[in-house]
Amino acid sequence: MPLPTKCCSVLACLFGSLALTSSIAIAAAEWQVIKVSGHDYLSVDNISKFYGLPVEVVPSGAKIQSEAADHPLEFVSGSREAVINGARSWLCFPVIEQDGKFLISRTDVAKTIEPLVRPHRVADVGKVQTVVLDPGHGGHDKGQMSRYGAEKDFALDVARKLRPILQAKGLRVIMTREGDYFVPLEVRAKIANSARDSIFVSIHFNATNDDPNATGFEIFSFTPRGAPSTSDATVGANSVYMQPGSSVDAQSMALSACIYHSVLGHLREYDRGIKRARFAVLRLTKVPAVLIECGFLTERGESKLISNKDWRAKLAGAIGIGIENYRALPVKKQPPTLVADYRREAKSSPVDAVIQEGTVKEADASLLELVGRSAFLAQPQTSTPAKRSSLESAPIIP
Ligand SMILES: [Zn+2]
Repeated sequence: MPLPTKCCSVLACLFGSLALTSSIAIAAAEWQVIKVSGHDYLSVDNISKFYGLPVEVVPSGAKIQSEAADHPLEFVSGSREAVINGARSWLCFPVIEQDGKFLISRTDVAKTIEPLVRPHRVADVGKVQTVVLDPGHGGHDKGQMSRYGAEKDFALDVARKLRPILQAKGLRVIMTREGDYFVPLEVRAKIANSARDSIFVSIHFNATNDDPNATGFEIFSFTPRGAPSTSDATVGANSVYMQPGSSVDAQSMALSACIYHSVLGHLREYDRGIKRARFAVLRLTKVPAVLIECGFLTERGESKLISNKDWRAKLAGAIGIGIENYRALPVKKQPPTLVADYRREAKSSPVDAVIQEGTVKEADASLLELVGRSAFLAQPQTSTPAKRSSLESAPIIP
């Protein structure tokens, strides 16, 4: 449904800044901002009218199945869990109920719902010449282990399979590591920040000690300013989150959506959702950045899939299609292909991944030029593998 221009300018006011300005008076005419304990909320009805989309709110404690979702926007009362366009997504703040109305935080309308529902309208979205692929871990940092192998090797293999796919689409590809060596997290971010019109895609596999049956994909982008991360347990309205945000978080959300819908659409793993975190690589990158967790090494069936090179090739192909969809957003001016579309498509034509292994080198010459050779020298291992806690939080079992 086309939106009147007036709406768009109001939207710019609402989304442009969370600071209170005189423009809020105009916004109030379209967006009925409701104050609850000093925080700004918008009603679900208001959101539904604005987007011209049906919105469903299910009772607190109800399970929503993303695969069965026939509503573009589905929320759970009292929860941060949502399904947006058929993929699970996590709000920063829970949906609250007041005077018979369901309310969603203004932060989430601006920072979660808008870039997921209309990623094609995000400023500068899809501007990408270089894809910086970041295979997680390396060298002494093995990442997580399964009986079949180490996360660092699986992640590197996916990146190597993905590189020629992206190059074939005319994209420049830089790998933060090309072999089994350790690259500090800040160097990985620096590589992305030094490349022109780059996006950063960090590839990892998941693990948990809490639940041997935990499975599925999840993708992270940087937590917005003033908001808690998805894994933060306490999200009381009065909690204050002072950490800085990112100037490109809307682009990162759009990138998350494009990659996640493709990966979930092509590989039928459990949908854990589009999440937020303050992992170092997401915090330190100044360009659109995501970190994808491609299944659990601690779960029997999924660890076996991950050890299969054909499955990893399919995964690389799906990430590649997601990146291509991100690049196409400003051209097509419409939302990316969604999980349900991919699943329909997949029945007739499965992903053909171009499997073409990259050669193992110490480090790409252009990288050395970019960040200097000393950056790649192995860091002495001074502590226990507690690194993980800074890079990856415990998974949330929905
Ligand atoms: Zn990892």
